[in-house]
Amino acid sequence: MRRLTHEQISSVRCPTCGVATGKRCVLVAGGLRDEPHGTRKSLAAETVGKKRKKESHAALLARLRKEIAKPNLTKSVREKSTAEDLAEWNVS
Ligand SMILES: [Zn+2]
Repeated sequence: MRRLTHEQISSVRCPTCGVATGKRCVLVAGGLRDEPHGTRKSLAAETVGKKRKKESHAALLARLRKEIAKPNLTKSVREKSTAEDLAEWNVS
């Protein structure tokens, strides 16, 4: 697997600690982690891979909207989302 840059990894939200894009992973006890969480690396790899396969921006947005529309996810996803994320997802 190709090694991702910190920039690529930080371009996705961390599924484990929930930090926003562009922020470093945090420890549960508080403070910054030296390394991003494994799940974040996986997600970043997936995202980068999909970009390489040229998933269109519109398709990605449609998928995210579908995800966010799931009843079980809606609340937590919305709570964890930043205004910036929501603004981006609302772009048509
Ligand atoms: Zn994390």
